[in-house]
Amino acid sequence: MLSRFHILYVLVLLLLQLFNTGVLAQTLTQTSQQKQQLIARYGLLETKDSTCNKTLRKLKIKNTCSILNSNLFNAYAFTEGSIMITKGLLQKTHNVHQLAHILAHEQAHLVLKHHHQLSGFMSKPPLFFPKRKRKKLRYQQELEADQWANQRLKTYQFMPQQIHHLWKRLLQQGQPPQTDHPSLKQRIDTSLLREEEMIDNGWITKNNKL
Ligand SMILES: [Zn+2]
Repeated sequence: MLSRFHILYVLVLLLLQLFNTGVLAQTLTQTSQQKQQLIARYGLLETKDSTCNKTLRKLKIKNTCSILNSNLFNAYAFTEGSIMITKGLLQKTHNVHQLAHILAHEQAHLVLKHHHQLSGFMSKPPLFFPKRKRKKLRYQQELEADQWANQRLKTYQFMPQQIHHLWKRLLQQGQPPQTDHPSLKQRIDTSLLREEEMIDNGWITKNNKL
């Protein structure tokens, strides 16, 4: 009886493992497809030695960033470990601190394994209020990523407060809110960062390459 139980237990474990690997593989395929679709639709800009990659190196983030030739404002962290931002986002960031925050935020999603957490949730959704709970999880992940980014920026002598200027500008311009993200106002209120006096009037760096 004991050994039968043992076999059953091993079998259940194996099944669980298979199931988890399956979910992960599915997530990887989905994000890879999503990435390829975006590239096929907008195309990539030449990013060798870009400000984006230089900023990642200054943040000691071992990752590369590619730039999508799109005027939309978006940043992506793909499960296989790459970061992609849009040209539109780069044009709206006014200094390297703001860009650093966005990149660190995307890296945080990868480091904190937010995709896996989310796919785990989706594979076994709770019986009660699944939509509301999913939304809560996404909010929590976004705020966690902001906190991780704040810390990373401070460690490598960037000014995390600068991201508030960008968020406020987007808020004034009526940037459409993403439904599964906390509102920009919520993000500002939660970060509770002291506002920097530095003026947000464009890139300080000359010869700024995309
Ligand atoms: Zn995010």
